[in-house]
Amino acid sequence: MGLLRFTMDLFEGLGSEFAPPAPAPARPRRSKKKPVPPVAPPPAVVAPAAGLPDPDAPPAVPLADTLTLANFAHPQATREVVLGSARVAYEFKRGKRKTIGFLVGADGLSVRAPRWVALRDVDAAIHEKSDWILRKLTETQQRHARVEATRIEWKDGAGFPFLGEQIVMRLDPKHGFASVGGTLDPAQGDAPRVLRLAVSQNAEPSQIRDAAQAWLMRQARKLFIERLDHFAPLLGVRWEKLSLSNAATRWGSASADGSIRLNWRLIHFRLPVIDYVVAHELAHLRVMDHSHRFWETVESVVPDYDVLRQQLKDETVPRWN
Ligand SMILES: [Zn+2]
Repeated sequence: MGLLRFTMDLFEGLGSEFAPPAPAPARPRRSKKKPVPPVAPPPAVVAPAAGLPDPDAPPAVPLADTLTLANFAHPQATREVVLGSARVAYEFKRGKRKTIGFLVGADGLSVRAPRWVALRDVDAAIHEKSDWILRKLTETQQRHARVEATRIEWKDGAGFPFLGEQIVMRLDPKHGFASVGGTLDPAQGDAPRVLRLAVSQNAEPSQIRDAAQAWLMRQARKLFIERLDHFAPLLGVRWEKLSLSNAATRWGSASADGSIRLNWRLIHFRLPVIDYVVAHELAHLRVMDHSHRFWETVESVVPDYDVLRQQLKDETVPRWN
């Protein structure tokens, strides 16, 4: 096989905060065509550097009634400022740079300034950028709250989403699961379906988690194969091998030899979203880039791919730890 091309698909929405610590490194492959460059989600948002501060700008507002203020505190904060109705405690560092820089990350606001700029002028620059800073801080906080709300508790009676539907775990060691390790009860009315795991009632959370993960990965493999077999003939391609991945920033990838990698955590999402990712990777067996022709190929089997693609970006992967 002379021409072997490899495409990585880095989808936004899998932030490092709820991802396993070390993302699998991209495996370099011999290639004659240029590979599609990976587009990793940025770790933090950086504001355009502020110009020289306006010396007439008002100084930081003194702390008056902090009880009514929204609070954004960076763990390494050394200074704080009131912006509108928010108190913002920020990390402040001076360095060899020419402009004042702002960065909003998971921890909060960091401000970097040249050594020679007066603190009063730093405050003025922060006020000048206050709309941007508050918007980013609010977005980051909301995102964090959404992710926290999805944290899975590994105990009897707790649940997690499976194919977009909330299911509940029951620890049921007496059930004769043999090799399967768990079974999902059929739906009964509006009550959430019950996943019976062959784990003892006093099992450690990590044992419950491992049993649930093993079950989910089996379901993922079974479903992914079914969906690959559904879409491959429609696209006129052949897939050869499926691997399940757990990568931090990747939902899937495809290589020209017909190998497909899919992230098993997709099994948390609704089937149409999974189908979009499956069709996306199979479409790469025909078009190995993200060109207009590629998206037309995806659209031929998933007409509403654009909506589903956006939904995938908006999805929150449940927190496992
Ligand atoms: Zn792709």
